[in-house]
Amino acid sequence: MEKKCLSSLTLEQLAAVLKEMGQPSFRAKQIFHWIHQKLATDFAAMTDQPKKLLAQLEENWYIAAPVIERRQQAKDGTVKYLLRMADGNCIETVVMRYNYGNTVCVSTQVGCRMGCRFCASTQAGRVRNLEAGEIAAEIYTAQRDIGERISHIVLMGIGEPLDNYENVLDFLHIISSPDGVNIGMRNISLSTCGLVPGIGRLAQENLQLTLSVSLHAPFNDIRSGMMPVNNAYPLEKLMPAVRSYQETTGRRVSFEYSMVRGVNDSDACARKLAQLIRGMGAHVNLIPINPVDGSPYSASDAENVRRFQKLLTDLGVNATVRRRLGSEISAACGQLRREEMQEKENSKCD
Ligand code: SAH
Repeated sequence: MEKKCLSSLTLEQLAAVLKEMGQPSFRAKQIFHWIHQKLATDFAAMTDQPKKLLAQLEENWYIAAPVIERRQQAKDGTVKYLLRMADGNCIETVVMRYNYGNTVCVSTQVGCRMGCRFCASTQAGRVRNLEAGEIAAEIYTAQRDIGERISHIVLMGIGEPLDNYENVLDFLHIISSPDGVNIGMRNISLSTCGLVPGIGRLAQENLQLTLSVSLHAPFNDIRSGMMPVNNAYPLEKLMPAVRSYQETTGRRVSFEYSMVRGVNDSDACARKLAQLIRGMGAHVNLIPINPVDGSPYSASDAENVRRFQKLLTDLGVNATVRRRLGSEISAACGQLRREEMQEKENSKCD
């Protein structure tokens, strides 16, 4: 029988498993603490647990503990990891140092099937979903490596979080648990390309996290050209879902807008964008696109980005240009994994 991932279980799920095994109820918290507070990666470390129980767990379960396959550090302190999972698949995790704390950008899937034309993560499609414990392990691996606490999380690495809904939700509960590393929901941002049913479902969970929507264009024709997901969920479906999310949760959403020269950086786009989100009090993050191989897009120049930002601000929309941390280590998602895959491909031909 294939082993299952014990670190993917929420405290309640773990309690149910242990109860089934005939264990007293206090064991669940103890084992949860070992995995999610003391960051133990093997059962032998759990010295206060009965040997027999540990042997039983060992037989059927494993704790996600990815291996750091590659590590790149930029001058600004940004660290990017290529992590190898137990089944050999690789994902990327990035740590960014801000004055308010250390933020980890986590991947939620191996690959992605959303097909955004500017994104390296999706070029080879989706291999599989990550389990909750594997996503949590990205944070634990980074925390152990830098030797400092992680205070903030962004779900902006490889994958579409709402395309792996159940596991991502379990992850959010695990990571924000006071019995784990206890990272508050208010310090977590979840970024989506705009899966409308997922946004509706997430609203009902009423979590205090920040929803970030990858908008990238205020007109359907431009957006569909950049993001195939817009064919299924065009702006007239997406925007009401986002507004309704904001009303239900009382949390302001933010919008990501990656700027592509000659595609979505015109004055008309800025005006339409302002009109689309007026009155929401939402924040817009402008990011010059990070060009990836095989993509026809190039970045808007700095002057254009500033003009776009000023136009938005003049129209009453709060917009900032995202500081590009770690740009010399190609910190855009999916690039390191893609390099690794290409090297593997090339070595096969040698
Ligand atoms: N699937 C989610 C989260 C992962 S991508 C989403 O789509 O939101 C995180 C952000 O980076 C998204 O806004 C995405 O559109 C953007 N992005 C991806 N590739 C990029 C690139 N090459 N340059 C700039 N932004 C990029």
